[in-house]
This record gives sequence, C-alpha cells and structure tokens, in this order.
Amino acid sequence: MAHINITFPDGTVKEFGHGSTGKQIAEHVSKGLAREALAVEVNGEVWDLGRPITADSSLRILKWGDDGGKYAFWHSSAHLMAEAIEAHYPGTKFGIGPPIENGFYYDIDMGDHTLTGEDLVRIEKTMYELCGRDVPYVREEKSWDEAVAYFKKKGDPYKLELLEDLKGETITFYHQGDFTDLCYGPHIPSTGRIKAIKLLSVAGAYWRGSEKNKMLQRIYGVTFPTAKELEEHLFRLEEAKRRDHRKIGQELELFHLSPAVGSGLPLWLPKGTVIRESLIEFLRDEQRKRGYVSVVTPHIGNLELYKTSGHYPYYKDSQFPPIVLENGEAFLLKPMNCPHHHQIYAAKPRSYRDLPIRLAEFGTVYRYEQSGEMNGLTRVRGFTQDDAHIYCRHDQVKQEIRTTVELTQLVFETFGMEVRTRLSYRDDKNVEKYGGDAAFWDRAQREIKEVADEMKLNYFVGVGEASFYGPKIDFMVKDALGRTWQLGTVQVDYVMPERFQLEYTGSDGQKHRPVIIHRAPFGSMERFVGILIEHFAGEFPLWLAPVQAVVLPITDAYLEYAKQVCGQLTEAGVRCELDERNEKIGYKIRDSETKKVPFMLVVGEKEMQGNTVAVRQHTKGDLGAMTREAFLAKTLSAIQQKSLTV
Ligand SMILES: [Zn+2]
Ligand SMILES: [Zn+2]
Repeated sequence: MAHINITFPDGTVKEFGHGSTGKQIAEHVSKGLAREALAVEVNGEVWDLGRPITADSSLRILKWGDDGGKYAFWHSSAHLMAEAIEAHYPGTKFGIGPPIENGFYYDIDMGDHTLTGEDLVRIEKTMYELCGRDVPYVREEKSWDEAVAYFKKKGDPYKLELLEDLKGETITFYHQGDFTDLCYGPHIPSTGRIKAIKLLSVAGAYWRGSEKNKMLQRIYGVTFPTAKELEEHLFRLEEAKRRDHRKIGQELELFHLSPAVGSGLPLWLPKGTVIRESLIEFLRDEQRKRGYVSVVTPHIGNLELYKTSGHYPYYKDSQFPPIVLENGEAFLLKPMNCPHHHQIYAAKPRSYRDLPIRLAEFGTVYRYEQSGEMNGLTRVRGFTQDDAHIYCRHDQVKQEIRTTVELTQLVFETFGMEVRTRLSYRDDKNVEKYGGDAAFWDRAQREIKEVADEMKLNYFVGVGEASFYGPKIDFMVKDALGRTWQLGTVQVDYVMPERFQLEYTGSDGQKHRPVIIHRAPFGSMERFVGILIEHFAGEFPLWLAPVQAVVLPITDAYLEYAKQVCGQLTEAGVRCELDERNEKIGYKIRDSETKKVPFMLVVGEKEMQGNTVAVRQHTKGDLGAMTREAFLAKTLSAIQQKSLTV
C-alpha cells in the first residue's frame, strides 16, 4: 500500500496511508485534537477534514482559534442559516453567503417578503434544531452541466449567474440535511459543532454590489462552539455600540458632521477642540524636548511637486482632482505634507553639522475616499497629521529611528494602550510597486529590524505592507475593547531624497544625500480622537476632559460663592463651568454625570462658611469636603502628570 509523508508545523514528518484524511491524521496525533479540529490546512490551502490527502503534504490541523478554522465554521453556519430559511420560506432565491470578520451573512431574494425581527427569531430557532441533529457537511464534485441542471430545476437565477463565471470547471456542491449549495468549501465536519447562534440584523445589499442590480436582503449572523463565547461576543458588541464615537461625539458635543459642508469633513466643536488641542500641546512639548522645530505649509501645492514625489498620477484615485487655472497651471490639495517639507529642507545649503533636522507640522491633508466609506472621525476626507520629517546622515539613521519609536511608545503608554509593532517590508515579488533600488530597500529594512531587535520590540513582519518609498514600523494598538487599530508609523526613506535631489555637504567637502524619516505617532488627529473616544467611552482622563470640573450651587443664595470657586479654578488653568440653572441639586448632579464631567463641586451653606467644596467624582460618588486649595492642588497635579486615574 502506498504511503504519503505528512510534515507537521513543528517540522516533524510522519508516514500515513495514501488517501488518509485530516480527521484520521488528527486522531492519530491526539483524541483531543480530533475533537477540536474544524478543518485542515494542506500546503497552505484550507480543506475539509474528511477530504482524502493523496500526496506528500505539509499539514496543519485548524481549530476554532485559527482563522481558517473560524472561517470554515462561519461559512458552514451560513449554509445552516440558508437551510433554515428554505424550511420556512420555500422558493427563496440565494445569492452568496460568505464568512466575514465577525460572523457571516447570506444575501437572499424573498420576492415581496421583507424580513422582520420575528422572522429572525424563527430562523434562529430552526438553526438550533438543525444543528441538534448533527448531520455532516458532504462535499460532492459535479460537472458544470450537472450543476446548471440542478439550479435550473430549483429555479435559482443567482446561482446560475455565478455558474456562468465557472464554465468548464469542475464544480463542487455541499450538502447538509435537506440543503444543497454551490460552494468551494471548506466546511466543518458536521452541524453539531455549532452550539450557539445569534442572527444579528438584516440590511439591503445589491446583487454583486452593483446599484444596477436588484436589491437583496442580507442577513448577518454569528455562531460559536460554546454559549459562553457567544455571550462574551454579544457583550463586546453592546460595549462597542455604547462607546461608538459618533454617538458620544454628538452627546458630548465634540464634533459635528454637516451635510452642508460635505461628507467626510468633520467640524470640531469647542469641546472636541479642547481635546484635539490638548493632544497637540502634549506632543509638541515632547517633540520640542527632542529637538524638533515647527513649520507651517499651505494646503495646496503645485501639481509638479507631486509629480516629482510620485504621489501624482499614481495615487490620483485617492486624491481630489487638481485645481487648474486659466493659464494651465495646476494645483493639488495636498494629500501629504512631505513634499512641502522637502522644499523647506532644500531652501538653503545644508552641512553635515546641521543634521539631523527635524521639521514638524500638524498639517492638514485631503484624500478622496469613496462616499460609502465615510465613518464619523475614523474615515474622513480631510484630516490633520501629526507629521514630521527627520533629515539625517546615514550614520544617524538608527539612532533617529530609535528615538522616534521611543516617542511613539511614550504616546500610547500615556493613554494606557497596549502596543504591538509590525515591520512593514516591501514584497520582493512585486518590486515594480515600489520606488528606489534593491540596495536601498535592503539597507532600510535591515536598519529597522536591527533597531526593533535592539529595543526588544514585540513585533511581527508584514511583507507587502511598506509604502512605495520605504519600509515602516507600524504601531498596532489595542483599545479597551481588545480591538486592534493601526496607528502611528515610523518610516525610513531613501527614495524621496533622490527624487527631490536633496543634499548636504559632508565632512569630506562632497555632496551627499540625506535619509528621511517620516513619522506620525497619532497618525491622524481625527482618527486618533475617534479611537480615544471609544477607548475611554467618553470618560476622558482629567487632562483631556473638555470640562474638568463643574460648580453646582445648592440654591441661588450660594451663587456668588460658586462664582468665586469657579473663577479661582479657571484662573489656575482648570477648565471649570458653573451650573447657574435654577434646578434641584440632584438634577444638576445627574446632568453632570451624563456629561461625564470628572469633578462636581457642590456648594451650600456649610461649604461657604468653611471656604470648602463638597467633591463628587464621576462614577465614584461623594469624596467629601475639601478646602479649595486642597482640591486645586490635587487637580493640577493630576492634570500635569496626565494621570489615567485621579
Ligand atoms: Zn459554502
Ligand atoms: Zn512624509
């Protein structure tokens, strides 16, 4: 009997019978693994566990924690949902039903019937019944003609349209219970693996994403192998909704999106501006300590500038079209600040003694995002980068990378955010996508890796994630909900100095090219503030809170004293408001709580006599009476230290 050699992820090789399945191999490894196995990765491709393996292969058993396992699980759940839909609504036509990042959906055509919440409950209940039967997902190969005949008989025009693109190929069907679908797979072994189900919502979706086609109904759902995991997932979804920066931004009056101004062009309201400016002040201060100087550049630049940099025409799809004058001169709303800064560098002769030169600007840039992609502050068309460009000598590159990485780490630590870094390299198989020659890239990639190793950064490598002019260190930040965001970046560039003919005179009297480091810890002020709002759920640390304290007189008799207290705090630099309204004190306290003001200072007879304030802290309640001086000292110290907790 013939044998095949199977290579496991740890490098061990074992011999199995020809045609062994992933399931058999998993059982051979351990009973526990076989119980948890959902699918198998064979030479990088995800397969059903039951599919025979007929050649030497490298193999990995996929469980719930693996992306491939999870996708097979959710993909199988989409089929299960389709089966339940068909049971209740015979004649439903099916579009596509893929797994997505957090669950799965199916696009369906039910004619005139619009799905209701009750329908979802009914479908969900049937899905539970169906997975209780624990039937297998069975793969079957069909000829193209057989597949077409099946869906013609069933009367499913969408599947027939999909088959049109697969002409001449071997088609695979998957069956489970009474349901058959056209599908590549892979799928999990049986429906019984699905233990917890939640159908989340219904939305309209054009067939194949085109407005010219019919609008179908898209049902979103999510499933898990245990009830506990579903519960945790639903909790996170609720939290994400509660923390949604668009909702909190409106409630706390931080920013406003006006259709009159335009999509993706947020307006910063006074309270949001306080947060933005506090962040800018914080970073500007840290930069000043590290030898940066500030510059200011205009919002538009001559189109030729962007032709030199290569941003135009190669990236013109993501830019607003050029502004063309009568004399033919053309300008671009700046998509990047870099070319402007390069001109500042080039404005006078530079010597090796001048370097490094660190030019910083909170510079606003414009990108043309498709209108469907706008999302509050996190996806916009005009945003401000906390940009800076460091022009240095080759022998200074590593030191400059190191200090910019340290600055970026300091920034995220200040917000209590967990950071992982990605070394973003170019894809050597696609070199035409990148500027500059191989020697520069090798050198820049080696430099960032050496710094990452020396600094013992927690990093992973992302091939193909570099920008077109250089490799980067990207900071992947985890927020309070455990979601990962790509924020700051540090980038090494040997290409632009060449394109812009930047130079300095070396100690040898010769001309040399500097190296440029592009960096932006926040990335974009808009996106960063959007993420901060969700990270803190609007309960900002004291130093960022738009209003840090509110004084609440119990009655009008104490209004004068309240004014004195508020005046003293304001004078000392605390952002303080006075609630003069003729309302009950309980109402005023509740109102300040919903506005998430960190401190409420209640003043009445006792406080006025004793020259004190009765302090309440947001979500923590009564802290008791304090002298005005003691409260001021405590507050100023927390603000100055940028404490996360007071
Ligand atoms: Zn499928
Ligand atoms: Zn730049």
